[in-house]
Amino acid sequence: MTDPQRAGELSERLSAVRQRIDQAVQASGRTDKPQLIVVTKYFPASDLRILAALGVTDMGESRDQEAAVKAQELADLGVRWHFIGQLQSNKARSVVCYAHAVHSVDRVPLVAALGKALANRRTAPAPDADSTDPATSLACFVQVDLSTGDSRAATISGHQRGGAAPSDVVDLGRLVDATEGLSLAGVMAVAPLGRDPSVAFGELAKISATLSREFPAATGISAGMSGDLEAAVAAGATHLRIGSQVLGERPPLR
Ligand SMILES: *Cc1c(COP(=O)(O)O)cnc(C)c1O
Repeated sequence: MTDPQRAGELSERLSAVRQRIDQAVQASGRTDKPQLIVVTKYFPASDLRILAALGVTDMGESRDQEAAVKAQELADLGVRWHFIGQLQSNKARSVVCYAHAVHSVDRVPLVAALGKALANRRTAPAPDADSTDPATSLACFVQVDLSTGDSRAATISGHQRGGAAPSDVVDLGRLVDATEGLSLAGVMAVAPLGRDPSVAFGELAKISATLSREFPAATGISAGMSGDLEAAVAAGATHLRIGSQVLGERPPLR
């Protein structure tokens, strides 16, 4: 049932991205390799099956409704689901049922909602609990808003990407760390429109260093998309979120 033409296309595109990552790692002189998360939002489950067969183990989604359906339908693939989009607190209960990690933790009420959702899930497993196993702990990246001045205006007039102010990151990290069921993985950011991604990711690296001084396990840096993965790798990204370069241009939102 797999469309062989689509499978060939995805295989080629994925290889090209893996090559790009390898080259970026080499150029940066790093000895570790970042984790590739293929961002599959808006693409059909059939594409995700092809990607899993090509060795993709980590997939990123940005809308709960869509992600929940895919996670259930594709439970047999055993992939790790990364929630990367803006998350409303009332979706926490759903997200903790399938997500391995949430990359968009950016405010106090959301931390509380995720903690509460996990606690409820432990005491009262969902009736359809066969869908996915409850995570033993949910990895949380604190999302940082790196926009300044003009780029902040561009973000607000364009679409709101979310993120905590850099000065709030450590406090949010403390709260995540203190919340049962949540494990503090590190920081996440999207390079703001109108800013040089190298400069923005350099700032993110500094924020990461500050956070991991207090929380030595929280060394994760989720940064880098199709257009700026080289800059992210150079700045020490540990998790890359790549969508269009692997899957092609996203279909319009329905
Ligand atoms: C869609 C999305 C990506 C992937 O972007 P591409 O440019 O398609 O690689 C990465 N991160 C976030 C937060 C996204 O929403």
